[in-house]
Amino acid sequence: MNGAIPEHLPELGGCWLWTAARHRNGYGQTVRVDGSTVLAHRLSYELHHTVRLTRAECVLHRCDNRVCVRPDHLFLGTHADNVRDMIAKGRDYNSRVRRMLAAHQAWLAAP
Ligand SMILES: [Zn+2]
Repeated sequence: MNGAIPEHLPELGGCWLWTAARHRNGYGQTVRVDGSTVLAHRLSYELHHTVRLTRAECVLHRCDNRVCVRPDHLFLGTHADNVRDMIAKGRDYNSRVRRMLAAHQAWLAAP
């Protein structure tokens, strides 16, 4: 079950990779005992901490690996925290578009 060790935080150790169904957004997806659909990393957090998350609560990945469900790679935050985290790590939409454009221009300029 152990996946890659995150390069930016090797002390975390290997990820636990969800290998069943995936949501179209790239996260693992499964079903709770009550039949409701849940993202796998959120369910992992709920089971580990014996809580039921609200919609406003986001479970973020320290390892940046969407399919990871290892409890100590997950932390709780708000949607605003999630956006800040994404921007800090250069994973927000604008950063992605900038990188894509730069790659495209480099490709066009290549001999
Ligand atoms: Zn992980």
